[in-house]
Amino acid sequence: MTRRELIRMGLLAAITVPFASLFRKRETMGSGYFWQIDPDKCIHCGKCETECILPQSAVKCVHQYASCGYCLFCSGYYQDKRVEFNTAGENMRCPTDAIIRTYVEDPYFEYKIDEDRCVGCGRCVQGCLSFGNGSLFLQVRRDLCKNCNDCRIAKACPANAFVRVPADHPYIYRKPPEVKS
Ligand code: SF4
Ligand code: SF4
Ligand code: SF4
Repeated sequence: MTRRELIRMGLLAAITVPFASLFRKRETMGSGYFWQIDPDKCIHCGKCETECILPQSAVKCVHQYASCGYCLFCSGYYQDKRVEFNTAGENMRCPTDAIIRTYVEDPYFEYKIDEDRCVGCGRCVQGCLSFGNGSLFLQVRRDLCKNCNDCRIAKACPANAFVRVPADHPYIYRKPPEVKS
């Protein structure tokens, strides 16, 4: 299957499928408003990793595949300074090995986030925005977040990127670039 077919046939839904399943969970939690991150305001300061009340943050990196370039040398995956483009630890940007790289077709690769490993540090988000399309960004996962009235991350956030969103739209997407036919 080609990269273009992947985009058209369902990987576009890779961000929406888990979101949809989480939305079903949310329905059992009552209505109202939830904390969420505005990806256009977030400056990837690192406090999402350290300030959440949970032992491992409720904030995770998500991947909006529709915006991804499937880059051979993904700047969210690799460090800026590296000896070679290989998966040696010193070349990796993610500190917890939470980004899974899979070959699609020459020269494209898919990058998937293992959310159990992701600690919400935002390093990959910074890297993707530096040289890529910004398809990696942080979101508060509804199945993990306790929806604290006084969210500690919201109080610590230097960019006022934590906002309240209505329960029926608990995630914020980036507008994807158009895919040319
Ligand atoms: S605390 Fe705010 S600016 Fe820092 S990573 Fe989280 S949302 Fe982004
Ligand atoms: S670099 Fe940080 S935010 Fe990105 S996947 Fe790894 S742990 Fe998650
Ligand atoms: S509301 Fe509470 S659990 Fe959710 S992200 Fe903020 S501190 Fe973490």
